[in-house]
Amino acid sequence: MIFRQLFEPESSTYTYLFGCEDTGLVVLLDPVIDTVERDLILLHELGLRLAYTLETHIHADHLSAARKLKHLVASKIAGPAMDELPCTDFGVSEDRPLAVGSLAFKPLFTPGHTDTHHSYLIGDGATKRVFTGDALLIDGCGRTDFQSGDAATLYRSIHEKIFTLPDDTLVYPAHDYNHHHVSTVAQERERNLRLGAGKTLADFVQIMANLNLPYPKKMDFAVPGNRKCGECPEETPEALRKLCNLSEQG
Ligand code: FE
Repeated sequence: MIFRQLFEPESSTYTYLFGCEDTGLVVLLDPVIDTVERDLILLHELGLRLAYTLETHIHADHLSAARKLKHLVASKIAGPAMDELPCTDFGVSEDRPLAVGSLAFKPLFTPGHTDTHHSYLIGDGATKRVFTGDALLIDGCGRTDFQSGDAATLYRSIHEKIFTLPDDTLVYPAHDYNHHHVSTVAQERERNLRLGAGKTLADFVQIMANLNLPYPKKMDFAVPGNRKCGECPEETPEALRKLCNLSEQG
């Protein structure tokens, strides 16, 4: 498998590229509309073709590149079936994995950050990687105070679906704000500041209730925009509208 971890600094989002060495087909996980041009240049350099974009959840902090990439390179759009988005070509669920060439994405239903959030488990020879979206972050987790978030639900998702994976499973989150790149299930289970070292459900709910996080600055347009796979709805600030222009790359 060809694998790259890519970073979008404004929203601190990690986008992941998975390439099948047999077919040259690629899946991009959580691509960001701001970095479409970068992603297309990388695909060109690698000599690969984008088959699918895939989402972990409906993001509130950035616009997805799914729709723009579909327009530019005819990729298909995949995401959780539970979201029931008309713009999605393939809805994934725990019973309905996504396979592209030799790439196999096993969806894990991990609600709590949002109520339809999914993580993805991917094997590559002896290496197992789990892409935890905004459920489990390195030394942290996604917020649970909006978008149907629920701290107790997130605690159960992480304990039942992520912490039960083999110790050496590599953990790749959708965001990092502190220059972490990758962790392991054992490391997060043992030392995650919010969930590790035996923190109880009550501990976690209390931690999450006292975070006092600011209101996400893009949420009012990103959520409705991402329910359309990355359109700019009317509430999008003028300066950002150009990102949705389908005739230009980037
Ligand atoms: Fe999120």
